Amino acid sequence: IATTSYEPLTEETAIAYIEKLNQKLGLFPAPSLLLCKEIGDGNLNYVFHLSDSLSGQSLIIKQALPYAKVVGESWPLTLRRAKIEAEALQKAAETVPSLVPNVIHTDDDLAITIMEDLSDYTILRKGLIDGETYPNLGRHIGIYLAKTIFHSSPFGESQQEIKEISVRFTNPELCKITEDLVFTDPFFDHDTNDFEDHLKDTVNELWKNEELKLEAAKLKYTFLTKSEALIHGDLHTGSVFVTAEETKVIDPEFAFYGPAGFDLGLFIANILLNTISKTAIDEQQHSDLYQTITETVEVFKEEYKKLCQNHHVEAFIQTEGYVDYMLATIFEDAVGFAGCELIRRIIGLAHVADIDNISDCQKRLCAQKNALELGSTFILKRRNFRTIHQLIQETKDVL
Ligand code: ADP
Ligand code: MG
Ligand code: MG
Ligand code: MG
Repeated sequence: IATTSYEPLTEETAIAYIEKLNQKLGLFPAPSLLLCKEIGDGNLNYVFHLSDSLSGQSLIIKQALPYAKVVGESWPLTLRRAKIEAEALQKAAETVPSLVPNVIHTDDDLAITIMEDLSDYTILRKGLIDGETYPNLGRHIGIYLAKTIFHSSPFGESQQEIKEISVRFTNPELCKITEDLVFTDPFFDHDTNDFEDHLKDTVNELWKNEELKLEAAKLKYTFLTKSEALIHGDLHTGSVFVTAEETKVIDPEFAFYGPAGFDLGLFIANILLNTISKTAIDEQQHSDLYQTITETVEVFKEEYKKLCQNHHVEAFIQTEGYVDYMLATIFEDAVGFAGCELIRRIIGLAHVADIDNISDCQKRLCAQKNALELGSTFILKRRNFRTIHQLIQETKDVL
C-alpha cells in the first residue's frame, strides 16, 4: 500500500471524495446534494454515512485509521486491514450474499471500503440489551458459519485456492491483538486488564488456577496454529446488524485463515453475556436466547453436513464418520474459545455493554462472577460437552 497518499477523511473531504467518484461510478444520480456524518465508535476506524438529500440514496464509507486508540494511548495498526475486511466481505458474498453488506467500491491507498448503508438495521448487542428478540438470528448465523467455513476449507475448495486464500488473508497484527487480549492478558496480572475492585479476590483466584491457565494456553496454541478456514475473527454481537427478519454480518477486519470453531465460540459467548446480564437483573430464564444459541449450533451442523454430503467428503476421505468427527472437534474448540471470550470481557481491556450497563452493583457483580465461572467451566470441561443441550444445561446450572 502506498501509504504516502493516505490521509484520514473528514466529513467535508468524504463528500468531495464521493462527488469525484460519482462522476466515474454514477453512485448517485446527478445532480445530488450530499450530506455526511461520521457515525463510528472512533477506536480504530471512521465510519461515514453519506446521503443524497435529493434522491434519498445513501452509502457508508469505512476508513481504517493508522493507529488504535486504547485507554488514551495510541499504537500503530496496519491499514491493510481495510483490504482484508473488504475482501472478506466479498468472499462471504460469494456464498452468503444476503448475510453481508454489499461492497460498492474499495480504495487501498485511502484504506477505504464503500458499502451498502444498513442504517435501517440495529446492532445486535443494542437490540438484545433493549430486550428485542430475533427469531431468524440463530438460523442465519448457523448458515453463515457453515457456508463460509465449508467453502474456504479443503472440503469445499481446491488445494490451490486454499493456499491462495490463506496467504491473501494473512493478518498477523490483528491476530496478535486477539492473542494478547483474549488468550493471554486476562489470565495474568497484566496492565491491559480492566476489572472492578469488587472482583479482585475472584480474579486472584482465577490467576492461581494453574489447570485453567494450562487449558487456556492450549486454546491459544490452537488459535495460533489451526488453519482450517477463512474465519471472521471478531464475531461478537457488535459485528451483527439485525432487523426483525434479516441479519447482516459486518466488520471482518480480523479475518484470517484460522480455527473453524472460533467464530461460533465468540458468537455463543456474546449471546451468553447478554443472557447472563438479563438473568442477573430479573432472575428469569431467557429461553429465547438459549433457543438462538441452540439453533445457531444445530443449523450450523445440519448445513455443514449437507455441504459435506453434496461434495462427497466422506467418499473423498474414504472413511465413514469423518464429518461427525470434524463437527465434534469444531464444537469442542468453540466451547473453549467461548470460555476465553466470557473471561476476557470481564477481566480484560474490552468490556461489553450488556454487563457494564447493569446499574445495580450487586447484580453487576453477580453477572461478572457468573461469566467468570461459566468461562472457566467451558475451558476446563470443553471435551465433556457433546451437544449444545449439555452446554445450555451447564449454563442454567451456573446462572
Ligand atoms: P469498527 O471496526 O470500528 O468496530 P464497525 O464496522 O463495527 O467498525 O462499525 C462501527 C459502527 O458503524 C457500527 O456499530 C454501526 O453503528 C456503524 N456502521 C458500520 N457499518 C455500517 C453500515 N454498513 N451501515 C450503517 N452503519 C454502519
Ligand atoms: Mg466498534
Ligand atoms: Mg465493530
Ligand atoms: Mg472492527
